Amino acid sequence: MTDWQALERAYFMSSLYTKVRLPVTLVRGEGVRVWDDQGKSYLDFVAGWAVANLGHCPPVVIEAVSKQVATLIQVSNQFFTIPQVHLAMLLAQHSCADRAFFANSGAEANEGAIKLARRYGARKRDGAYEIITAFNSFHGRTLATTAATGQRHFQDPYEPLVPGFVHVPYNDIDAIKSATNEKTCAVLLEPLQGEGGVITPDSDYLSRVAEWCSEQNVLFMLDEIQTGMGRLGTLWGYQSFGAEPDVMTLAKGLASGVPIGALLAKEHAAVFAAGEHGTTFGGNPLACAAGLATLQYMVENDVPGNAARMGEYLRGRLRELKERHSDVSDVRGMGLLCALEFEREVAADAVRRCLAAGLLVNGVKPNTLRFMPPLVITEADVDEAIGILERVLIEMD
Ligand code: PLP
Repeated sequence: MTDWQALERAYFMSSLYTKVRLPVTLVRGEGVRVWDDQGKSYLDFVAGWAVANLGHCPPVVIEAVSKQVATLIQVSNQFFTIPQVHLAMLLAQHSCADRAFFANSGAEANEGAIKLARRYGARKRDGAYEIITAFNSFHGRTLATTAATGQRHFQDPYEPLVPGFVHVPYNDIDAIKSATNEKTCAVLLEPLQGEGGVITPDSDYLSRVAEWCSEQNVLFMLDEIQTGMGRLGTLWGYQSFGAEPDVMTLAKGLASGVPIGALLAKEHAAVFAAGEHGTTFGGNPLACAAGLATLQYMVENDVPGNAARMGEYLRGRLRELKERHSDVSDVRGMGLLCALEFEREVAADAVRRCLAAGLLVNGVKPNTLRFMPPLVITEADVDEAIGILERVLIEMD
């Protein structure tokens, strides 16, 4: 049998993924499960980093992509194409935004938001260009989104950073007020910090930030790349907090794994002029057909409602584990973005033991596991995952 892992070590760019690569080669996925090249199956509570929200290879997406791939994959954005318009319309109908721009990834959607904020500052706020973001945030790996990200370890290798970002503590409205001045054009936040360890803000934080931004004529921008597409139990994270953004970004679950990013804005914030932004692949018919099928299915079948119910159930079962295992110090999250925190830094060990036992989970921090399964999971799937986790906790006790 081919040793794909040895071949990767020979041909892939040095050690970029050595911190996260696990010794398994995945070859197939269906629903909540994936299979490796030895035929072993895994219950997937990582879902390709919160991407496979409808499960792996959902039939509606297979059908839409198969049809589109045989019809038209890519043309230049000099031409009108139908799936792109259709997806923009559907996103506007189901969100607070009026207009869309499509990119190819989350970081690229955020790059677009950062550029849009600078154009907003130039046009509507006397040349303001600074963006307030939060410590412990994650907004992507391009140069500007690395500067926006509020975690030093992502930034240190890439000094000098793109200027124009001011970081403040998350969940602290007064810090945003103090940091706002005549140079501020936008505030960019995650509705809930996913990569930062599943940190939920106070229920009124986002609405107070929205109010402040509106008073100051500063754009309120939400990075919904991880929290959007049903993950928090509502179609968009902001709906769980009753705070509408002027601008929001999407990627991950939007097209079920076909690469896509989206920048959405309310009319007053959609200030790009012709030629000020663009991309070759962004909004191509293939990605947009996958996005359309995903969003339509999600809305018609109330997938976010299932995420809300299964999230409650999962956290309930995790709290039972906490009662039985003194090493577990916290259970938190919203919808199907949940975390289990330990007293000790055992997450990497737990991830490997779960993997061996047939469950994929993510060690988001050295002492914290993150769970972000497909939003279509059932109670039986949760029970199976909890059974494996409990056996692993007993082994580690
Ligand atoms: N923003 C948030 C909140 C994310 O969680 C991520 C990825 O994890 C990104 C941006 C970057 O998205 P991508 O990896 O598609 O560039």
